[in-house]
Amino acid sequence: MITGAAVATVDPSGTEHRRGFVVVEDGVVAAVGPGDPPPGTTADRVLDGRGHLLTPGFVNTHHHLYQWATRGFAVDAGLFEWLTTLYPVWARLDAADVEAAARAGLARLALTGCTTTSDHHYLHPRDGGDQLAATVEAARTVGLRFSPTRGSMDLGAAAGGLPPDSVVETVDAVLAATADAVARFHDPAPGAMVRVGAAPCSPFSVSPDLLRQSAAQAAELGIRRHTHLAETADEEEYCAQTFGRRPVEVLEDLGWLGPDVWLAHCVHLSDPDIATLARTGTSVAHCPSSNARLGAGIARTRDLLAAGVPVGLGVDGAASSEQGSLADELRQMLYVARAVGGPTAVSARDALRAATVGGATCLGRDGEIGSIEVGKRADLALWDLTGLGHADLDDPVVALVVGPTPPLALSTVEGRVVVEDGRLRTTDVDRAVADLVAARGRVLARG
Ligand SMILES: [Zn+2]
Repeated sequence: MITGAAVATVDPSGTEHRRGFVVVEDGVVAAVGPGDPPPGTTADRVLDGRGHLLTPGFVNTHHHLYQWATRGFAVDAGLFEWLTTLYPVWARLDAADVEAAARAGLARLALTGCTTTSDHHYLHPRDGGDQLAATVEAARTVGLRFSPTRGSMDLGAAAGGLPPDSVVETVDAVLAATADAVARFHDPAPGAMVRVGAAPCSPFSVSPDLLRQSAAQAAELGIRRHTHLAETADEEEYCAQTFGRRPVEVLEDLGWLGPDVWLAHCVHLSDPDIATLARTGTSVAHCPSSNARLGAGIARTRDLLAAGVPVGLGVDGAASSEQGSLADELRQMLYVARAVGGPTAVSARDALRAATVGGATCLGRDGEIGSIEVGKRADLALWDLTGLGHADLDDPVVALVVGPTPPLALSTVEGRVVVEDGRLRTTDVDRAVADLVAARGRVLARG
């Protein structure tokens, strides 16, 4: 039980309590409300939340955890040059490297208020071991709810694509690996800790055949679909030249839009593109820091939200967004939207909604997580607003979004403590750092 905290429930009405309480029982929210808990309420453990803000745990909707060992490359390059610099480096990763990178990336997410994350693992070097299994293992260790996607590419250099041929696969191999990942890791039950999705990489690194067949397979397996879309002007030009269509039109032609699809980036959208996403119920994973780092542009979040498109937030891979903290993306979302759209383009509460229930909607889990409501999973973040960065900010949600990232007093996943007093309780961070440094050393030495 947490008492005395400001509570931003992010429920459909946006209910907030200046001083409220939450009771957790068996991993689920049993009660939430203003003031004090009803007389007679007992708990094994009671936390005094005065001066703190309680929010739903953040949901990260786009990441490439393997990239944590390869940060700081091609710092001044755009997407295509950045990719061609990094593909040969990533081609040398093995499963042990990926486990270390994923554990470090997940630790960073946990320490900055994330309780659920997806991952898009689209690069499977030959002889690189079972890298998807390595990310699932890392998520189990750190204790985050996890939506790994079995990514893929089938357009290598020999077929006119950007990636080296050693990291692309045949369509049949991709479909077999996806079915295998679902059989081994996917849990459709409520409160599941692992849900697998299918995720061909992008329209410029996969064939239309792979997109078509993976859509059919995902429907058969009952899993969600994810890909990158409309990230750069170069991609728009590629789609115009290759297909005579805009990126959103390419996906629609191939049956790749719908309520079971969430798309990373969506920076370069026309008005009809936005209407198409709204009509089809497709969600967007907005990655403002990565888009800025690669000079890709600024997504039209105000227009997407106004059209009713579900918008979540993503940190993207750490090689294109080195800070890897979803808490920072709330501020970044607000800032970049206002930089082009004026002071009312995105509010602090819009950003909090995107980071929580918006992300849960992207992952198809808004019935289970993303808000603090009775019956939902107890995935919570308790932010300490009593210190230097926040003590004079009266509105706790504004303090969280536009102030520095507050110290994380507590986070829980399914009611289990993951972070307490700013420290990860599930795994040793010093060891994660040492393993990360060793993994980076191995990858560079193989070059
Ligand atoms: Zn990405």
